[in-house]
Amino acid sequence: MKAIQFEQPGAVRLMETSTPEPPAGWARIRTAAAAICMTDLEVLRGRIAAHFPLIPGHEWSGEVERVGSAADEAWLRRRVTGDNEITCLQCRYCRRGEWRRCSQYRQIGFAAPGAYAEFLLAPVRNLHALVDSVSFEQGALLEPLGVGLAVAAMSGIRVGATVAVLGAGPIGLNCLAAARASGARRILCLDRRTGRLELARSWGAAGVFEEPEALRAAAAELHPWGTDVVVDATGAPDLLNFGAGLARFGGTLALAGYFGGCRVAIAPDSIHERNVRVLGAGNNAGFTETAAAAAGDGILRTESMITHRFRLEDYEAALSPETHQAPGYIKGVFVF
Ligand SMILES: [Zn+2]
Ligand SMILES: [Zn+2]
Repeated sequence: MKAIQFEQPGAVRLMETSTPEPPAGWARIRTAAAAICMTDLEVLRGRIAAHFPLIPGHEWSGEVERVGSAADEAWLRRRVTGDNEITCLQCRYCRRGEWRRCSQYRQIGFAAPGAYAEFLLAPVRNLHALVDSVSFEQGALLEPLGVGLAVAAMSGIRVGATVAVLGAGPIGLNCLAAARASGARRILCLDRRTGRLELARSWGAAGVFEEPEALRAAAAELHPWGTDVVVDATGAPDLLNFGAGLARFGGTLALAGYFGGCRVAIAPDSIHERNVRVLGAGNNAGFTETAAAAAGDGILRTESMITHRFRLEDYEAALSPETHQAPGYIKGVFVF
């Protein structure tokens, strides 16, 4: 099979490698779509730990074409996406749902081979079937949609909540979509790129802004009591205090972005005095299934964020920072 491999930070190649055989309890999936995540680029830059050499790709969909045990044959030929977490399910951490502390914890696309390949392996218990109305491309976007749904759930976004989303990249847009579906009203959105703001508006943002001060002024008018939930999807150090200041008394600042290992000076007194809850919201375990259900029911669809499609052979363009910074780029997908 053809696969893209990260050899080491900064080195990537398209290779021919043997098609993997699924062990008992696992399935081999013929990849149909694999979305490109900023995290993959950070791994390639060496800024996120991963096991090299690595076939990346953790946002995927495809069709089950082989299973490792006869008991799982009902999955054959089904269209699926899946969770990436591989765990033992037996240790004390697994039993408490603290998957990341499991000694066997690995994630497909980070320590286990991912979906930038014609085939990938996943545990059968991780699979979620896609109904016919959910395209493979939408299927590949269910993992990041699960991130948005997890942020909405963890930060307590519910009917009537007022929300500000800082950053309208793929994660910000997923948070916006999830907030809308959770009943939020008057969602304000901040980004420097107008194409993204247009999409945010079409997805239901009440106001979109290129400058933080403009958003702050609009928030003061629309939410006189302050904003219930501020979602930071930028990872921009200079917006952290801004986000904390935007949250109402007792409100929440949810950190959904990746700060690249940096340190930030915060103003703790304002957070303390106003009882602001700062929430680490960087995990979507369990929410890909919710995303698959919501997409299947037609409640949430996010495929309009896809702006670029690539073949594996186009990997240099697909993974180049210039492509990702180009005006109009939001989300790229390898299609097979
Ligand atoms: Zn991702
Ligand atoms: Zn375990």
